[in-house]
Amino acid sequence: MVRSLAARCAGGSRRANLILMSPEEFRQAAYQHADWIANYLETATDLPVVTTAEPGDLIAKLPASAPEKGEPIAQIFADFKDTIVPGLTLWNHPRFFGFFSTSSPPPSILAEFLMAALNANAMLWRAAPAATELEQVTLSWLRQWLGLPPDFFGIMYDTASVGVMQAIVAAREYIDPECRTKGMRPGLIVYVSEHTHNSTEKAAIVLGFGRDNIRRIPVDDCFRMRADLLEQSIKEDIAAGLRPCFIAASIGSTSTAAIEPVPAIAEIAERYKIWLHVDGAYGGCAAVVPEMQHILNGVERAHSFILNPHKWLYVNFDCSVLYTRHPDIFRRSASLNAVYLNTVEDPRVVNFNDYGVQLGRRFRALKLWYVFRTYGREGIVALLRQSLNQANLLKQLVESDAAFELAAPVHFSLVCFRRRASNEINQRLLAELNATGYAFLSQTVLNGKYTLRFAVGNYMTSDDDIRKTWRLIQTTALRYN
Ligand code: PLP
Repeated sequence: MVRSLAARCAGGSRRANLILMSPEEFRQAAYQHADWIANYLETATDLPVVTTAEPGDLIAKLPASAPEKGEPIAQIFADFKDTIVPGLTLWNHPRFFGFFSTSSPPPSILAEFLMAALNANAMLWRAAPAATELEQVTLSWLRQWLGLPPDFFGIMYDTASVGVMQAIVAAREYIDPECRTKGMRPGLIVYVSEHTHNSTEKAAIVLGFGRDNIRRIPVDDCFRMRADLLEQSIKEDIAAGLRPCFIAASIGSTSTAAIEPVPAIAEIAERYKIWLHVDGAYGGCAAVVPEMQHILNGVERAHSFILNPHKWLYVNFDCSVLYTRHPDIFRRSASLNAVYLNTVEDPRVVNFNDYGVQLGRRFRALKLWYVFRTYGREGIVALLRQSLNQANLLKQLVESDAAFELAAPVHFSLVCFRRRASNEINQRLLAELNATGYAFLSQTVLNGKYTLRFAVGNYMTSDDDIRKTWRLIQTTALRYN
């Protein structure tokens, strides 16, 4: 059956085309899709960044059941343009300033296209040797750019949320090696700061640590974990017969991009033999810039460290990288042989599925390879500096308007500010600004004060985008008191 379909496809029969799409039809459709993408990148700046879609809009427009008969790709593509795209908030847009601003530049798009064509599954070295080895090579390149020690072993996960979960699993193995056979013992404690991304807490809950065993350490005036209070909490836990297991410190926390005191926290982690994880999902990327490399001080003492190229290294979603000094512990915590995988030990190869819960793994290294080679280190540094400079420009604009105030120090490309007014007014300002469709910002709450987060980072953003968005914020704010 398969053979006859393929034969009909090669022969260009109309019936087979409906079922399979011939290579020639694919070529034509791919050209059209590529044209649309190039056009999108050229004109994104003219499009509204925020959709006006209301909940249920798309569901109401689409049939309730899947099609019985195949449809022409031209029709599907037309529906994509007319129905799907208008319902999206455009992340790859020069004025997407919400959450953390990300990028999907052309080399990354091309690599993703090729990945889809090959459908390589990098679960075992044998299953996709070049995908596995490209992951080793690109993560070694990145490690060198970041100035991290050569014994840092790199692995890619889809997201930092999954990476931190694997780090907690490794920490549990480190503290309690019997866990793998006997199960988890009670009273293992996880330490986060009040501003740690909630993925760490979520991972600990999912892994069965229990929310009562998660300590949220208070922060100082600059939203950084207080190392003295961390130590105090650890001492109290030990005195109560509990076992400190995992500390998460952030370089570029989510709300304000604060840099926590990693060297002081590392000192404590070493003193009490606790696993130290550093979350640099966003901020860690900036360390590729030589004058920013100091932000990683102390990371060389961490047991694990995460950064997300899909946040701020010009690689499209998804691509998260974890480095560890203890790949052996990750392996002990997560590897499991199976005859059908034929995971024969071979000291020359890495089977990345041994280091996490996922068997199937995307060929993400291709994206890093395309992006790193297209831009080179110099190009990446220039792009990162562009965002850092634009954030600095915005900081100056905020500082020069007495109606506004900065709400946190600016270390990277995130600027937190608020109008000197009530929370309600700031909330309204953000809602009205986003409703214009011109730009998209998000929010946080700092010491009870509603705060606007303006995250710069998309590779297409210009200084003009920053100035015009700031002007719009000012004029929107003038409309009410
Ligand atoms: N850590 C920080 C500091 C973040 O800002 C985020 C997401 O914004 C995460 C972790 C989680 O990232 P991911 O979406 O890759 O799970």
